[in-house]
Amino acid sequence: MAFPHPQPMTSYWLSAAADLANHRTTESLPTEADVVIIGSGFSGSAAAYFLATQSRTGNVKCPSTVILEARQVCSGATGRNGGHMKPDTYYSAAEAYRNYGPKVADELIQFETQQMFDVKRLVDAERIDCDFEMTRAFDVFTDQQTADSVLQTHEEMKSKGFSFPDDLHVITDPKRAEQISGVRGAKAALSFTAGSVWPYKMVTHLLRRSIEEGVNLQTTTPVQQILGNKADGRWTVKTNRGNIVAKKIIMASNAYTAALFPEFKEKIVPVRGVVCRISVPEGTGKRAPHLNNTYALRFNPEHFDYLISRSDGSIVVGGADRCAVEKQDYWYGNTDDSQLIPETEKYFTRYMQRMFNGWEDSKAHITDIWSGIMGWSSDSMPFVGKLPGKPGIFITAGFTGHGMPRILGCSKALVELVQSDGETIDMNTKNGIPTPYLLTEARLEDKTNNIISYARNVTSNLKSRL
Ligand SMILES: Cc1cc2nc3c(=O)[nH]c(=O)nc-3n(C[C@H](O)[C@H](O)[C@H](O)COP(=O)(O)OP(=O)(O)OC[C@H]3O[C@@H](n4cnc5c(N)ncnc54)[C@H](O)[C@@H]3O)c2cc1C
Repeated sequence: MAFPHPQPMTSYWLSAAADLANHRTTESLPTEADVVIIGSGFSGSAAAYFLATQSRTGNVKCPSTVILEARQVCSGATGRNGGHMKPDTYYSAAEAYRNYGPKVADELIQFETQQMFDVKRLVDAERIDCDFEMTRAFDVFTDQQTADSVLQTHEEMKSKGFSFPDDLHVITDPKRAEQISGVRGAKAALSFTAGSVWPYKMVTHLLRRSIEEGVNLQTTTPVQQILGNKADGRWTVKTNRGNIVAKKIIMASNAYTAALFPEFKEKIVPVRGVVCRISVPEGTGKRAPHLNNTYALRFNPEHFDYLISRSDGSIVVGGADRCAVEKQDYWYGNTDDSQLIPETEKYFTRYMQRMFNGWEDSKAHITDIWSGIMGWSSDSMPFVGKLPGKPGIFITAGFTGHGMPRILGCSKALVELVQSDGETIDMNTKNGIPTPYLLTEARLEDKTNNIISYARNVTSNLKSRL
């Protein structure tokens, strides 16, 4: 399993060029720590922030904490994503209902919905300058068959007594769906509260706050190996700049977790995706309608693009999975974020003109395009908790391209576990997480890999439509 590529492409978000990009709090690597966090994305930074600030508010000393980041700060998925913070309020509900029953299906929806408000509260409390906006997400279906099947399932679940959030608004009339969403050829639309954010700015703020509280951040320091120390139960974290001996380790390395803990091979799989920024050039006198919402354009059950609108009028759009899915090497198990997936740039060219009414003459064009590596989990749920059989190793990873409305709560719950020395995350506390997220032996041993079956589904659906 591969480590992060040493020379990734840059992304629009990384253009914020934070002072922390190459930060090393101390010139040399500390040799000991209470906690080592591996990864400086949203997961690792939120964990550091909670460790540092909760210790302070609880009047306990912040454990000596070192964050090790393989590349520049926040240069993994968090610095390269679509900036879309969108709870899954309905789309996966039927599958969750089937797999886990109605109570857990509801837990999953409630957790993600609450995350939106928790992120908002954090941004407000910390006054984080990160372009956070609370908007509505429009899920727009451009294929009648897919729309019918999703809406029918939605009705069936309701008739069985399942309650979707009151916030979910359904538009079934194609004319209204197109008029309200602005998406050409819309057949149906569902909308609900969501958000958008400049993820890199949010995360670097959390890191800066953690450093103020005593956390030591070391960038461009890839962890090569983690070895158990039988004599005192501590762990030796090996890097090319020296070793750190630590009592506890938080793995926030998402797609790359299996490189250090092979039990995650086929459990958290690196999956490459592409995102771009589109804007109308200045000085041409051309304009385009400002989109007040965020979007997912759903073309069939498997394929969708997602986009956010920024206050400068530009659009950040990700997806284009139709360019990759049939060629498994382009995406599955691929950690090369130094290159795009072939054909994606072509796909996003004149994207807004093709998809949205009112953009036809806008001259909107791609200003930035980049790739990033997601950590897809074999059952699409993140793994959060203690690593079975390895006391002192804690994991929060495997967000399956959908981390923004999940990570804050997962890092918070994990930090509580780290601090309490408890056995597992108590689901019934204020900071509980949905049961399917828990890292258990059973999940690690399960050989099912939904990612491959998803790919097979997509391929056969594509062929049957040709
Ligand atoms: C192209 C793309 C688009 C996406 N769009 C969205 C979206 O719009 N909305 C959404 O909700 N989610 C989206 N996601 C998913 C989201 O970005 C992730 O779920 C989230 O950022 C994961 O955060 P993380 O901190 O767990 O992982 P990451 O941000 O990937 O951080 C992991 C860090 O660990 C470091 N690391 C790994 N191995 C080592 C090692 N051995 N030593 C030291 N450091 C190491 C990496 O360099 C990296 O910085 C997208 C992802 C991608 C790639």
